[in-house]
Amino acid sequence: MASVAGPEIERLIQLLARLPGLGPRSARRAALHLIRKREELLGPLGEAMRVARERIVTCSICGNIDTSNPCSLCADARRDDATLVVVETVGDLWALERAQVLNARYHVLGGALSPLDGVGPDDLNIGALVSRVAAGGVREVILAVNATVDGQTTAHYITELLSPYEVKCTRLAHGVPVGGELDYLDEGTLAAALKSRTDL
Ligand code: ZN
Repeated sequence: MASVAGPEIERLIQLLARLPGLGPRSARRAALHLIRKREELLGPLGEAMRVARERIVTCSICGNIDTSNPCSLCADARRDDATLVVVETVGDLWALERAQVLNARYHVLGGALSPLDGVGPDDLNIGALVSRVAAGGVREVILAVNATVDGQTTAHYITELLSPYEVKCTRLAHGVPVGGELDYLDEGTLAAALKSRTDL
């Protein structure tokens, strides 16, 4: 592809094109936007990235990503120690926090068990999860994993692993999304929704 600008700008475009959801075309548009708004956007963005690069750490308790260790969620004294929400990724943790329903503690596994991809229990942050439950104080472990084969395999594995402890393991309901129309749902989602129907 012919370059449209000098090597410095080309490099900016190439790096932006590596971001999820951005192809070469949208990367060029983003680069141009940043360059046009260099005072209010490019400068502050560069500074924010530099600070993030220097200060981001993985929380040694829960596996979350933050600029402090323990992370701000683990350090928050107002959170309920009795409820532990297990998620696959930090992105999932962020999604649940956006829902503003839980005031619980979290545990980030760093993925899901996947025999086909060679991901076993030792590749995930599972040992630390068992230690946290074994330490006592947790009454419910919510397995907020993906509704995929790997996610559900992981949920079953963890439930088995935690069975010696006095802790209730729950999982998220599977079913009709809020605002969803039945006619548009796939058979698997409809079957799951029927199985987990509730009293009115
Ligand atoms: Zn943490």
